[in-house]
Amino acid sequence: MGIIVQKFGGTSVGSVERIQNVANRVIQEVARGNQVVVVVSAMGKTTDELVKLANQLSKNPSKREMDMLLTTGEQISIALLTMALQSSGHDAVSLTGWQAGIKTEAIHGNARIVDIDQEKMLKHLNEGKIVVVAGFQGLAVESEITTLGRGGSDTTAVAIAAALKADKCDIYTDVTGVFTTDPRYVKNARKLQSVSYDEMLELANLGAGVLHPRAVEFAKNFAIPLEVRSSMEIENGTRVEEEVSMENNLVVRGIAFDKEVTRVTVIGVTNGLHSLSTIFTTLAKNGINVDIIIQSMTSADQTNISFSIQSVDLDETLSVLEENKESLGFVSVEHESGLAKVSIVGSGMISNPGVAAQMFEVLAQHGIQVKMVSTSEIKVSTVVEDAHMLKAVEALHAAFELEINVEQPV
Ligand code: ADP
Ligand code: ASP
Ligand code: MG
Repeated sequence: MGIIVQKFGGTSVGSVERIQNVANRVIQEVARGNQVVVVVSAMGKTTDELVKLANQLSKNPSKREMDMLLTTGEQISIALLTMALQSSGHDAVSLTGWQAGIKTEAIHGNARIVDIDQEKMLKHLNEGKIVVVAGFQGLAVESEITTLGRGGSDTTAVAIAAALKADKCDIYTDVTGVFTTDPRYVKNARKLQSVSYDEMLELANLGAGVLHPRAVEFAKNFAIPLEVRSSMEIENGTRVEEEVSMENNLVVRGIAFDKEVTRVTVIGVTNGLHSLSTIFTTLAKNGINVDIIIQSMTSADQTNISFSIQSVDLDETLSVLEENKESLGFVSVEHESGLAKVSIVGSGMISNPGVAAQMFEVLAQHGIQVKMVSTSEIKVSTVVEDAHMLKAVEALHAAFELEINVEQPV
């Protein structure tokens, strides 16, 4: 007998029938002799609906009140699922994030989990109960309710699995696993049997919404075996693990994409040695996340600095730069919106030079201009026009033979 953590996302608990289906999946796990902690998200599009409600009342609602509002979504799901389990004759108890002992940083909207007091969950498990925990939420100092960022229920689940030293964490969702790229956009996307923590971390960070990046970080740091699988179909999902067998070790394992990217160029920076650090420290202090950075010297004492940001941060970025124009020492700022990031990821790249060149060649053949590039050992990211994003993904998916590679059967 072991401890299993199961997490069910919004679509999987989107209706009464689906909650009943989730209860059945939980009961099957209990029937195998396991102690089970279930983490659930808010039903269907509840979180989006709550955000819309807030925006009707306020252009810029306070982050604290947003957390207060959004955490109600998960609370509905835990109560309903627990009732379903109880009415099937099982002993179950629902816990909000704070009741489950999930402690976070004192940051509203995007807090990190700093500790989990597992005592309460263990007590219930040892009394033979199924423990149903609200995802995406925690408690910071002074009893402040916090949330972990959109998609954060995955992180709740993996963090609980780490704290309880669970045997496994299963992430049940509305697709049957992690695919070579988002199967909702690319018909030929293929389900992967396994993907390494590092590859999954890159994919998640680069826009593959199937797992929250911090969930993958936790799983890697605590060596938690993860499986992403369907809450509807009974079939093996994708294992996220340390070792991925050589047979499957494709050079490129997946393609991620992310819309709503804007490139900002700061022209004529004359602040000498410290110009880079001054600009990016100023942006960081204002909570603006910068992604790809390119610096080009235009003369001996002048540089242009381009960087990419999420388009939602554009107004704030422009006003922060303008406010600090004198101390930053630049001439003007330009920006280009309507861009997207397309990235290829695979640990096989480490030992295969020329993958980036091949990517650029494929994009060029399809008439797609690359505006920015960034690389790491296991990924190459390009910024292209939004309008070309899917064409780029499909072309790369075909060129790196992601749909036709034959994997070993499980
Ligand atoms: P949940 O509500 O269960 O957390 P999400 O919507 O957060 O579900 O994540 C599942 C979605 O992730 C899928 O419906 C799919 O559109 C998207 N997705 C993006 N990239 C991938 C990928 N590489 N493989 C599988 N799904 C992906
Ligand atoms: N309900 C939250 C969201 O929609 C958290 C989650 O689903 O993981 O982002
Ligand atoms: Mg999710």
